[in-house]
Amino acid sequence: MMSTHSTVFGEVDSPRHEADLYDRLENRRVQCNVCLRRCIVADGRAGYCFTRRNEGGRMVTLIYGAVSTWSVAPIEIKPLYHFYPGSHALSFGSFGCNFRCIGCQNWEIAHVGPTRLGVKERRVTLDRAVRISPAQSVEMALRHGCQGLSWTYNEPALWLEYATEAARLAKRRGLYTNFVTNGALTPEALDYIGPSLDGFRVDLKGSRSHTYRRLANFRALDELLETIERAHRMWKMHVEVVTNVTPGYNDSKEELHGIARFIATRLGPDVPWHVTRFVPHLRLSHLPLTPVGTLEVACEIGRREGLKYVYIGNVSGHPANHTYCPECGHRVIERRVHGVVSISLVKGRCPACGTSIPIIGLSPMDVA
Ligand code: SF4
Repeated sequence: MMSTHSTVFGEVDSPRHEADLYDRLENRRVQCNVCLRRCIVADGRAGYCFTRRNEGGRMVTLIYGAVSTWSVAPIEIKPLYHFYPGSHALSFGSFGCNFRCIGCQNWEIAHVGPTRLGVKERRVTLDRAVRISPAQSVEMALRHGCQGLSWTYNEPALWLEYATEAARLAKRRGLYTNFVTNGALTPEALDYIGPSLDGFRVDLKGSRSHTYRRLANFRALDELLETIERAHRMWKMHVEVVTNVTPGYNDSKEELHGIARFIATRLGPDVPWHVTRFVPHLRLSHLPLTPVGTLEVACEIGRREGLKYVYIGNVSGHPANHTYCPECGHRVIERRVHGVVSISLVKGRCPACGTSIPIIGLSPMDVA
């Protein structure tokens, strides 16, 4: 459900808010410390994401509270399968991205930003936005019967100050919080929101720098991997990893083994890995859909690397969309089209063999 909220920006350019994570340099330049690009920005210019601008030696975010899209969505759609199964999250997106993925599905909001467009286009873009304060976002979630808040659709790290304030308020009202992210936050940015963020649904596009350069024009893969590990180990966030398997780009066995090995060894075998079917978009419109057989090979690779929960996504009705007990193979959660059909856990354990299945936020019925 897309937003039909009526509070539009109209003539207002954008909500300005001084950024919290930046350093002042000589000659009124600043260095942004929100994402791993760590842009150095001259006075009057914007960073790579188009959403943070140096205004007279101060770094300013231009999208505080600027919502391009919102919806009430099942948590399974993120996908998050071991996190409050069957719940709904009020999901928000803004504008801009720190990546330039050549197959981006959300390029209409991710590849634009307040500083990228001319005045006319900027007004059109911002007229599509609604302005929602952190407190309003929490009230909206409660009013819509949601159990949590999710920042998604474009890279939520760009919304750091806004999302952190909303997350703090959400936690006080008993809501869960999560990011659907590319993971390229700096350690400072992760630590900034860490105390208030429960879930970290992160894309991992490849295990080689070369792949990240080709797919996303991004070079700092090692630091990105450290951020994911930090989210999991230091902040105890619930982490699930998604790899959108793109034909000819990241579908080699070597690449997939590398991703699965990273998850198994640095995050742990209980962390879910979703291998999802690529759907042609943008500059990759000429590619085919990922063959189901390739996803099944990826699944097998994940299991061979020791992962206990590997899922196939974007393939309707595939058996690898359900959760099975890793010990006895009993199906413990059945899903259909981004929703839960049934959960047959008993006190969080497999009803057939008693193995504990690591899923947080189960309803009282499933843990009783
Ligand atoms: S968030 Fe990232 S891309 Fe945007 S200005 Fe900061 S360092 Fe640059």
